[in-house]
Amino acid sequence: MAPRIHLVNPSHLSFGVAVITPRWLYVLAAATGTAWGDPVIVDETLEALDFDTIAPGDVVGIGIHTGNARRGYEIGCALRARGAWVVYGGIHATLFPDEAHSHGAAHVVVKGDGDLIWPRVVRDCLAGHPETMYDGGRVRGEDFVAARWDLLPEARYMWASVQTVRGCPKHCSFCSVWRTDGQAPRQRTVERIVTEIVELRRRGFRFIALADDNFYPVTVEDLAMARRRKDQTRLRELEAMRRERFELMEALSELPEDTVFFTQITMEAAEDPAFLDAMREARIKGALVGVESVTAEGLKDVYKGFNLSGEQLVDRLRAFKRRGVHVLGSFIFGLPSDTPDTFAATVALAKRADLTFAQFVLLTPFPGTLDFEKWASSPEQQGVEVDGIPVTQHWLIPNERRPKLFTPHPTMSLEEIRERAQGAWDQFYSWRAVWERSRVVESLKSRVAFILVSKLYRQMYANTGIATDSARVARSAKFARWMASMCRGLFAGAPMPNLELPQSLRKERVA
Ligand code: SF4
Repeated sequence: MAPRIHLVNPSHLSFGVAVITPRWLYVLAAATGTAWGDPVIVDETLEALDFDTIAPGDVVGIGIHTGNARRGYEIGCALRARGAWVVYGGIHATLFPDEAHSHGAAHVVVKGDGDLIWPRVVRDCLAGHPETMYDGGRVRGEDFVAARWDLLPEARYMWASVQTVRGCPKHCSFCSVWRTDGQAPRQRTVERIVTEIVELRRRGFRFIALADDNFYPVTVEDLAMARRRKDQTRLRELEAMRRERFELMEALSELPEDTVFFTQITMEAAEDPAFLDAMREARIKGALVGVESVTAEGLKDVYKGFNLSGEQLVDRLRAFKRRGVHVLGSFIFGLPSDTPDTFAATVALAKRADLTFAQFVLLTPFPGTLDFEKWASSPEQQGVEVDGIPVTQHWLIPNERRPKLFTPHPTMSLEEIRERAQGAWDQFYSWRAVWERSRVVESLKSRVAFILVSKLYRQMYANTGIATDSARVARSAKFARWMASMCRGLFAGAPMPNLELPQSLRKERVA
């Protein structure tokens, strides 16, 4: 039998149904081409990989980030022993190519973007002489590959995902995006983005995540600064980038009315009413906003001085809602300046700021970030191990033994931070609070959907991510699995096989 190409998204937990499609699987599937037949896609957030489906000589691409690297290595080792070609890619493999060889039995590691280099890697493996390392670099926006949505399994995902821009001009200390994807935003052309979205809408996806690092790459302040510096070249560049954002949103606004988008954005967008209005018209109804901390000290801790704190922060966040954009606020707990009061103050602020959803994550030194470098090189971490594994490689520690927090706190124990963070999730997502927030939608059916989704979100991210008790994690995963299957239908739309490109784009094509 001819060898086959497999693409695997590792996960140690499977929910049967997932919220968002892991886009990279379908992009690499498209990049693979069809010369070797359609690639086989396995997303372990749905179901665990059946190792028997892989034959000797097959090529297996495993995409890893820090959170799933350990499971990825387990898969790679098992499949190499079965005689398959094992290839790693993704952010974690880009940062630690040697580790993928030493711990994951890699034949090959691909650094950077896989869009263009992947077919060469496959060809070299099938010819029997791959190199041990390839560098895909940073692909230009116009070369981003459109995903092969025809390979999606039926009725498994609630939201599709389309990328419109890679890279982020900011430099937050806990984030690796600006260092791995770069600080120069790389925008895809409007026509390519919308063509992909139209295909998804034809297939019945009406909820689409614009899976960008930062959907708002040019701020009003960036433009003002270029003007102050009389830097005409930079100003023209920024204006062109901004104009393209508006063109994209205009095209989105012409899509069927029941289509809904969600994205990630910095808080500065609240100061840009024209941008928020365009978002509303485009039906970008929700945005994840990295609030991180409610205090000025906390923001300084993470190099996010461009955010506001206190009552100004409440005002800024409310500006999104006033313009019709719901906010999923993201907060970090465990910052050096946090105190026991920070937790309740954060939940109270999230409520006052009218956030529709919130997530409370624990400060984790992720590789590729400034925080990680500082933490991993500090004398206190040297020689600290769990089961013989250095904590500076915490992703290699088995999940049930892995500490939930790593950075010693000046006044609180790590267990206290974890418990208080769990308390924040419990408070924000209590039945009563969720019922009250469900007023953002009108019909009873929509309110029930809102409640289900809120509870699902909490189960998937709080109980399985923060809880240390493995029985609680297992129970939560089971409950989330059940709820996910209930929720999926709420997001599906009727397929529209005859949907055409928006009028504005068709005009351009004719011209
Ligand atoms: S956290 Fe957001 S704003 Fe900060 S660097 Fe990362 S993507 Fe950019």
